[in-house]
Amino acid sequence: MPRIRQYHRPESIQDALQLITNLEVTTAVLAGGTNLLAQPDTEIDQVVDLQKLGLNKIQLGQKEVTYGSMVRVQQIVEHSQSPALLRQTAKFEGPNTFRNVGTMGGLVVQADWESEFFASLLVHKAVIRLLTRDGELSIPLRDLTKEKIHNSLVVSVIVESGGQGAHHRVARTKTDRPIVAAVGRKDESGEIVLAFCGVDNRPVVVPEEELKNLNPPADFRGSSSYRRQMAIILGQRVLQQLVQ
Ligand SMILES: Cc1cc2nc3c(=O)[nH]c(=O)nc-3n(C[C@H](O)[C@H](O)[C@H](O)COP(=O)(O)OP(=O)(O)OC[C@H]3O[C@@H](n4cnc5c(N)ncnc54)[C@H](O)[C@@H]3O)c2cc1C
Repeated sequence: MPRIRQYHRPESIQDALQLITNLEVTTAVLAGGTNLLAQPDTEIDQVVDLQKLGLNKIQLGQKEVTYGSMVRVQQIVEHSQSPALLRQTAKFEGPNTFRNVGTMGGLVVQADWESEFFASLLVHKAVIRLLTRDGELSIPLRDLTKEKIHNSLVVSVIVESGGQGAHHRVARTKTDRPIVAAVGRKDESGEIVLAFCGVDNRPVVVPEEELKNLNPPADFRGSSSYRRQMAIILGQRVLQQLVQ
């Protein structure tokens, strides 16, 4: 657990932003805390807990769904009007004890390389709404970097709804984290977007013709060439399902 000097629980977005954008101290934003509190030997001047900001709502629009950054992963699993692919892949984000704590904002900031849910956000063309010292920004998830989030507050994540999704994976067991996973979505215009996890240091969008050029990191579960080959096979399965 990190050593924390001050704890704040602001009740307005303005107060939270004032704390988060203070460059004179090191600040950590606390959402679910699953990742943050698991970091040993770090020193943090202040922690800004987001739980009182009312960012835990899901709003349905005509062609999009907006998730507040404090929406819990399990809320998405249970939300029957959310896109099916998001609900299905959210279920793979750890056991339900973890999903009841982890948040949309935390997942987006972490960009875990094995997150099938993050890959699904990519194919739903997620846009991240951020508040920074200089005002509000909307950034496509595929262009988001840790530097852009530094000293800013993720307020919400907006995804396109509609269309058709598909998801295929290889893992050591049915519920284990994936070695490689592929997700795809065909939107209402017929455009298909493919995204993968387990093939780069974060989940990525990869067009089918570029899969053979992937150079995935290797670990004890799969070499680089095994992961590349799995990405090609899983990508084909996703495409076959979407063009039926
Ligand atoms: C044991 C363990 C298992 C894990 N399993 C998985 C897994 O299966 N899948 C997976 O994808 N990840 C996993 N992770 C990584 C991580 O915990 C998850 O991505 C998690 O959902 C993060 O959500 P959180 O709300 O708990 O984030 P927190 O731990 O609260 O925050 C994570 C990071 O995001 C920042 N942050 C959070 N919200 C905001 C915001 N609104 N604005 C700005 N910055 C923000 C925090 O400052 C921190 O740097 C795991 C981590 C651990 C320790």
